[in-house]
Amino acid sequence: MSDSKVLMDWSERYAAPNYHPLPIVIEQAEGVWVEDPEGRRYMDMLSAYSALNHGHRHPAIIQALKDQADRVTLTSRAFHSSAASLFYQKLSQFTGKPKILAMNTGAEAVETAVKAVRRWAYRCKGVQENQAEIIVCSGNFHGRTLTVTSFSSSEEYKKDFGPFTPGFKIIPYGDIEALKLAITPNTAAFLVEPIQGEAGIVIPPEGYLAEAFALCKQHRVLTVADEIQTGFGRTGRRFASDWEGVEPDIWIMGKALGGGVMPISAIAANSEILDLFEPGSHGSTFGGNPLACAVAVAALEVLEDEKLAERSERLGNYFMKQLQGIRSSAVCEIRGRGLFIGVDLHVPARPYCEKLMSVGLLCKETHETTIRFAPPLTITEAEIDWALERITQVLRD
Ligand code: PLP
Repeated sequence: MSDSKVLMDWSERYAAPNYHPLPIVIEQAEGVWVEDPEGRRYMDMLSAYSALNHGHRHPAIIQALKDQADRVTLTSRAFHSSAASLFYQKLSQFTGKPKILAMNTGAEAVETAVKAVRRWAYRCKGVQENQAEIIVCSGNFHGRTLTVTSFSSSEEYKKDFGPFTPGFKIIPYGDIEALKLAITPNTAAFLVEPIQGEAGIVIPPEGYLAEAFALCKQHRVLTVADEIQTGFGRTGRRFASDWEGVEPDIWIMGKALGGGVMPISAIAANSEILDLFEPGSHGSTFGGNPLACAVAVAALEVLEDEKLAERSERLGNYFMKQLQGIRSSAVCEIRGRGLFIGVDLHVPARPYCEKLMSVGLLCKETHETTIRFAPPLTITEAEIDWALERITQVLRD
């Protein structure tokens, strides 16, 4: 096997430069640990942007993958598959919603939700053709497809990719008055991240979601929670929306639904919404494939059996408290829920992430000045202590 330097050179030579990875090559991984070709070990504090809530290669999930691979991996939706049927039933139970639509990536699930709420606006709410509006929040991150990029508030994400899809209104995140003003008879839905992940772990004011959802209900506006990054125990609850006891009309899920093994995403909603997708109106060759579905069922079982949400809350509180005890003039704010923690710096975060890497800890800056700590939820307290020693060493004055 080639060494890290050669592999990074190839990656730089042949791969499009649409990411700026830290200079490390991961060759194998287990639990919270990864290893490079030279055998150096690092702790993974990013968890593939929260897709690895179960840790790397969780044995029960890998077993489900192998078992399913020995049976059938792909059918397309031209036929039923037993794995998909079991998955729909399991995710319906988990979300409490009667209907599921499976896709592959998070952005695809967001696109699916956009299509669903537009159909609902025309066919159920009586909005005139092509007039449906969707309200979103500034600082949002819902993915990278063109329609999703159309309603980003980040110029960097949009530059030279136009023309964009119309029909979106951007309002400030956490501002209930702005939501009140934005709703019109043409509003189909309010699409929101219950905690904004990519924006730097931004938690809205207490009561915001409950008030916003009540307002939407009053005006017959669908509520859509993008829980792609915050779902499946990441914030110390099943979904981050559970912190305020709110239930959206549509859950959007991805990332950890695939147990860190397979890409699988989905939306969950009631029949009035999802039955609007008659045959031919939407789909994906790999959406709901048996391999991903079997893995997702195992991932949901592990989440429940190992009480990963509770674990995230308990260890997140511990981690946060210890972080707050570090004396560092570089730090301006520490915020988070469960094992979803952002450390805001007065200065660029990237050099700190590089320093953390040099002492064995992998994390990634989000935006300019935030370090995100989001380890697998299977992490132990001793492993958090190991991380804290290194974080203290790097952040301390
Ligand atoms: N929505 C949220 C809240 C996300 O955090 C992400 C990815 O980071 C996405 C959507 C897009 O998911 P994907 O990268 O799987 O398309």
